[in-house]
Amino acid sequence: MKKLCLFDGGDLVVRTHADGSTELPTADELQGIPTAEKVFAAADAEAAAVVRSEVEPLLAPDLQFQPLRPLFLTMSAEQFAVACKARQMVQWETHSHFCPACGVPTEPLAFNARKCPKCGFEIYPTIAPAIIVRIHRGRELLMVRALNFRGNHYGLVAGFVETGETLEECVAREVMEETGLKIKNIRYYGSQSWPFPSSLMIGFDADYESGEIHLQKEELADGRFFTPEDMPEPPAPMSIARRMIDEWRGTV
Ligand SMILES: [Zn+2]
Repeated sequence: MKKLCLFDGGDLVVRTHADGSTELPTADELQGIPTAEKVFAAADAEAAAVVRSEVEPLLAPDLQFQPLRPLFLTMSAEQFAVACKARQMVQWETHSHFCPACGVPTEPLAFNARKCPKCGFEIYPTIAPAIIVRIHRGRELLMVRALNFRGNHYGLVAGFVETGETLEECVAREVMEETGLKIKNIRYYGSQSWPFPSSLMIGFDADYESGEIHLQKEELADGRFFTPEDMPEPPAPMSIARRMIDEWRGTV
């Protein structure tokens, strides 16, 4: 049965079961709910923006709005991935109603795109690539605490790719800017879609080459090399940073 992801901002309508697990409702259950134009989220799921105050009184008692990110802990991995894509598609749809060049209303194309009927400009869902890097020095790993982190955890050096830059150039630049360190042997690790709001996190490994740590004070509160034995609190379980840190701990 087709699922439907209804979002008001970052909050999603989900069903909560007695055991605390959550799932997406079906389109059939949500018939008659006033929504914006529906967009594709998966082969068996659509998504749409709604106005919470209009929708809440119409929902069954076991359906509620919940913030998307914590649903990672209660929803199946498959449904959470659909919900994350749905969130990005809804956000894109909401921001692509008018041509950025002409200002006239755009029209949906047959696939995930919209087109300006006047100048022909096509608008596709935006993805912002960002790198994240594990920097090794012997048995040690560089971990940093950003000023904007909530809580006390440490993560890895990360940053958005700039126009005209390769991923490897971005890794070297971010590490130099944030820590003052020179690195070498930059190699691909893996990636993760990160819908907060619409990033693709691209993970790398690199080795320390030279330099003393000089933190970028506007972004980082702390940054040091740690051994597995004296590690600080790691990031949230759903992040690629956590996966990279956990794997490193298991292998050194
Ligand atoms: Zn136009």
